[in-house]
Amino acid sequence: MPNLAAIMRQVLHALLPVECAGCGVALGDDPIPFFCRRCWEGITPLRGPACSRCGHPFASPVALRYSPAHLCSACRLRPPAYTRAWSSYAYAPPLREAITLFKYKGKVALADALGDLMCAAWPGAPEVDLLMPVPLHPARLREREFNQSLLLVDRLNRRLRLPVSCHNLVRRRQTPPQTELTRQQRRKNLRRAFVVMRPDKVAGKRILLVDDVFTTGTTVNECAKTLRKAGAADVYVCTLARTL
Ligand SMILES: [Zn+2]
Ligand SMILES: [Zn+2]
Repeated sequence: MPNLAAIMRQVLHALLPVECAGCGVALGDDPIPFFCRRCWEGITPLRGPACSRCGHPFASPVALRYSPAHLCSACRLRPPAYTRAWSSYAYAPPLREAITLFKYKGKVALADALGDLMCAAWPGAPEVDLLMPVPLHPARLREREFNQSLLLVDRLNRRLRLPVSCHNLVRRRQTPPQTELTRQQRRKNLRRAFVVMRPDKVAGKRILLVDDVFTTGTTVNECAKTLRKAGAADVYVCTLARTL
């Protein structure tokens, strides 16, 4: 007969994580679910010079000394449809583990802590009229049961207190995962994947689009293109993390 205590322990371990997902240390009264205080406090915002359009960090600390509006080569070659994009943190451990748990393992208990990170790094400007999460395709939403970007919007909006639009921009085509694709393949993959249901609701508006990770920026750029075509005055992009 199996040992009852061992079964109980297994059940408990399955229900309650006991080790930090970042460093493996046993968790005590740490305030953030799944992470120890030390790991979480080690997540620091990206600083230093970056492209004034897409936020791509420049290697040289003096890159912007004489030309603060300097653009990265990607933005010079092909200006994005959004006015400006910010990413708060590098997509690196332990934040990468936290986003994976949140997005793919259904650990929605991390939503507030991740949203708070975003709030802490929010640049404070520009002024916007409307917040919008990057939409998931309905089939993906059914499978995942929540849109991670909408949960981030919700938390960010405790600070910004703006109208949220989560049904107007719609993903009409389910596209294969983008992770393995090149920038060019991503663009092709996402072409005309989004649609604005009520253009009158975005016309003339300054929109802040929110997503979890900025990889090549193709997804947010495609959303921005769709919103601008529908009449949006400006589209700004805020993402929690960016791949470097
Ligand atoms: Zn840790
Ligand atoms: Zn750029």
